[in-house]
Amino acid sequence: MTDVGHKRAIGFVLGLIMVVLIIVIAGAVSSRVIEPPSDRVSVAATIFPVADIVSQVAGDLVDVELILDPGASPHTFELTPRKATRLSNVDRIFAIGQGVDAWAMQVASISDADVVELDQYTTLICEGTCDPHFWLSIPRVIELVDDIAIELATIDPDHADTFTKNAKNYIAELTDVHRTVDNIMLDAPSRDLIVFHDSWNYFAEAYGLKIRGTFEPSPGREPSPKSLAELEDLVTEYSINRVYKEPQLSDKTLEPFVNDQDVEIGILDPLGGVEDRTSYIDLMIYNAHAIAAP
Ligand SMILES: [Zn+2]
Repeated sequence: MTDVGHKRAIGFVLGLIMVVLIIVIAGAVSSRVIEPPSDRVSVAATIFPVADIVSQVAGDLVDVELILDPGASPHTFELTPRKATRLSNVDRIFAIGQGVDAWAMQVASISDADVVELDQYTTLICEGTCDPHFWLSIPRVIELVDDIAIELATIDPDHADTFTKNAKNYIAELTDVHRTVDNIMLDAPSRDLIVFHDSWNYFAEAYGLKIRGTFEPSPGREPSPKSLAELEDLVTEYSINRVYKEPQLSDKTLEPFVNDQDVEIGILDPLGGVEDRTSYIDLMIYNAHAIAAP
């Protein structure tokens, strides 16, 4: 090899080393910039109370996507393709179970995420079919908070200790709120309730109330003349002077009944996520005040 040829060869090798170094350094820098966001775990929750309860346990370590928009009813909800697409990257889907949010399965099928049905962590009230509205009992929610921490730890093991600690704090807070609600209920003018749809059995169980009648036994379907006649009898039998509607279901058939019976309308909210009910705890306190109102 000539001297010039030799120098060219060295130049070529040095050039090659520089290119390789640039690629390695650029790779290290870009992976340092890009990796952390993709490490972040994200989960979905079917209804607002579940989203808030999971958020309390997750802290700010996990993104919690709410599937059912506040103001909508899980009983009449249909998942849009747009929303399904937005949820395609979640790692878990927290649901109630018992068919109330069966549409969670549609999200699961596009995201490949497991659905965690929280009904497995409490004992349900069953008469033939089981009542899914257990989140409306604070003691029932307390039972499953630790299980949510365990579930989050399986998808984000690095933060397991934080989830356990958050769960413990939230249980302490819920225990206090349960006592507060119990105290508010001491002022309830009546312990006999006629509610809009059949979602208040767990609330009644927790606070010594009796659900005497339900305006829409099938949520979203108008009551039959026969069931309206039965409700009229119950109003008399239990000296009911207030019946309850719910923000998520149309109440236009309730008006004539209320006018005929000379009862007033209160609002019980099983789902929240709106107005002064932007946490599960605020939702429960709101409902206690609604029943305790003079
Ligand atoms: Zn319901």
